[in-house]
Amino acid sequence: MTRDPRYDILFEPVQIGPVTARNRFFQVPHCISMGHRYPFAQAALRGIKAEGGWAVVCTEEAEIHHSSEISPACEHRIWDAQDMPALRLMTEAVHEHGSLAGIELVYNGHHAPNRYSRETPMAPSHVPVDSHEPVQARAMDKQDISNFRRWHRDAGLRARDAGFDIVYAYSGHDMSLPMHFLSKRHNARIDEYGGSLENRVRLFREMIEDLKDAVGDRCAVAVRLAVDEMLGADGLESNSEGHDTVAMLAELPDIWDVNIADWSNDSMTARFSEEGFQEPYTAFVKSLTTKPVVGVGRFTSPDAMVSQIKRGVLDMIGAARPSIADPFLPKKIEDGRADEIRECIGCNICVASDNVVMPIRCTQNPTMGEEWRRQWHPEVIPPTQADTRVLVVGAGPSGLECARALGVRGASVTLAEASGELGGRSARESRLPGLSTWARVRDYRVGRLQEMVNVETYLKSALDAEHVLEFGCEHVALATGSSWRRDTVGRHLKRPVDGLDQMPVFTPDDLLSDGFDPDAMPEGNVVVFDDDHYYLGGAIAEVLVNQGRGVTLVTPASEVSAWTSNTLEQVRIQTVLLEKGVTILQQRGLARVGQGAVDLHCVFTGRQETIDCAALVSVTARLPDRTLYDALLARDDDWPGAGIKSVTLIGDALAPGTIAAAVYGGHRYAREFDTTPDPDKAPFRREMPWYGDRHPAWS
Ligand code: ADP
Ligand code: SF4
Repeated sequence: MTRDPRYDILFEPVQIGPVTARNRFFQVPHCISMGHRYPFAQAALRGIKAEGGWAVVCTEEAEIHHSSEISPACEHRIWDAQDMPALRLMTEAVHEHGSLAGIELVYNGHHAPNRYSRETPMAPSHVPVDSHEPVQARAMDKQDISNFRRWHRDAGLRARDAGFDIVYAYSGHDMSLPMHFLSKRHNARIDEYGGSLENRVRLFREMIEDLKDAVGDRCAVAVRLAVDEMLGADGLESNSEGHDTVAMLAELPDIWDVNIADWSNDSMTARFSEEGFQEPYTAFVKSLTTKPVVGVGRFTSPDAMVSQIKRGVLDMIGAARPSIADPFLPKKIEDGRADEIRECIGCNICVASDNVVMPIRCTQNPTMGEEWRRQWHPEVIPPTQADTRVLVVGAGPSGLECARALGVRGASVTLAEASGELGGRSARESRLPGLSTWARVRDYRVGRLQEMVNVETYLKSALDAEHVLEFGCEHVALATGSSWRRDTVGRHLKRPVDGLDQMPVFTPDDLLSDGFDPDAMPEGNVVVFDDDHYYLGGAIAEVLVNQGRGVTLVTPASEVSAWTSNTLEQVRIQTVLLEKGVTILQQRGLARVGQGAVDLHCVFTGRQETIDCAALVSVTARLPDRTLYDALLARDDDWPGAGIKSVTLIGDALAPGTIAAAVYGGHRYAREFDTTPDPDKAPFRREMPWYGDRHPAWS
């Protein structure tokens, strides 16, 4: 296919100091929790992005010195020469596809508690570290500043020698030393590095000048700056000090990478932000500099990207999440296949991976993080044997991905769905407030399935064991999903609470089902008991309060939707609920259900209280739907006659989890159904540590 000429502008080269990017697609630095621990995986992942057409591919943050490290988080390290071979793996992987490799040099200031090195953290002023632990950073003296500048410059030299083309001076996310110096909140110095904005910018200016001097002849020097912290006058603002900082440094770097802070603002989820949401904060930058400007905004639409360039907002389209969800996004636009882009849904499962220190995963892209250890390519799956017939039952995220990936492999696939709608929970949950982008999980897959002649899809086809046996397929994948428990059992309650027959009890399945009549719920206050702790309890409370009901959200956790602190949404979710008038009772368990009231107890003291309510919504745990599986197991004697060789549960039907896990489960089945895994062996390659101070291959 040929490229739509409207998108030609996206494929113009961009000069960045001494290097040239082959197009305008720029994968900005983003964490993947692989860093110094999984260098081969890191390199393969970044190499895939380059293969997919990103002209610039950057690292995650790279710590420049042992006196500022954020273990157990797993970022890059460029402390000394021992780190170079690992970094070289990445630059080589990126260069192989004609892209530029960028590295984000980072010194975390009071964001680094130094749990591994045990060095005392350093900051502009004496302050506690920001991670709620009993550690304080000490104020840097002149010698410390001079040492720091040398460390930063030396790291730049090492980066150049490891093959990087773009070296970053990083002042972003309220997580970096120069940003702490820049900030009135954090900098109480009275010397030439404190006080006026000019003084507070001084260290950052020196860092950029040092890098230009050290590596500027060969490498572009990029600046990453948070130009607005969304804190009003307490922080940097794009109409005051954020603006003035850019004005002061305008022509110094070779490229500006601008965003908003902190991370929860920069990586805001789709629930709270639209594509291009950073434009009101960052658009001013281009008016102050002749250097190229890159910025982010969860861009997945080529039209939105072209608009950013044509309107003079950005010169390069920055992306972290869209490049995770689809490493081949640029290539698809280039090849005239923009409709095949696997669009990021803005859920931040990728961000959560980093926050819980596990290698990255993605809801939309099940191959993310598996490029090296399983050798999964996002676009290519080796074919299976011709004429292999597979029946997939259930068209939720798992069944859809399974059918799509099997279709890519050339299997002859039948997908049967009981309801009249494809998408399962991704369709249902996309109707919740702010979650419409979640339908992209369905839409991307349905779009691909419609193009495949070897996949047939049937709606309103609830299959039982007899149907499956009659159908007679070699392999059967059961993606039949799960249902929410009505009996309140979950993490907190190991047995059903007493008195469940005294009051109408609803589950998320009831409320999200197509035919649910809100009037089926009696008038009066509703208690939502959230022992799930992800987004759903909070989202259901929002739906109910939007319907004009009095809502009390009860949770044994210390905050609403507690796990969403990992997706950077928790504060926004709790704020919205409070603003809408939801009563929030934290650290309470459900003690008893009575007529017109529930008894709660404090999870610490056991002290009880009674809440009047007309109905209870139980959001605690799910049970896999194994009805069809168990029925087929009961008839396994009939399988050979029906030609059935395997019946396998996948997705939520195996064990309920995130949509990301369901998509991954469907994909994995499609890749592996025709192999015989050895249950005694890990099904992937491992990166082994070297038990010595110098790896023989790295000298
Ligand atoms: P997952 O997240 O694992 O994909 P979902 O709950 O989103 O799970 O989707 C499961 C889908 O399976 C639902 O759309 C449901 O209607 C469908 N389903 C369940 N049982 C059957 C069955 N016996 N025959 C056909 N479809 C089924
Ligand atoms: Fe986008 Fe979610 Fe994938 Fe992250 S995990 S890249 S937010 S779809």
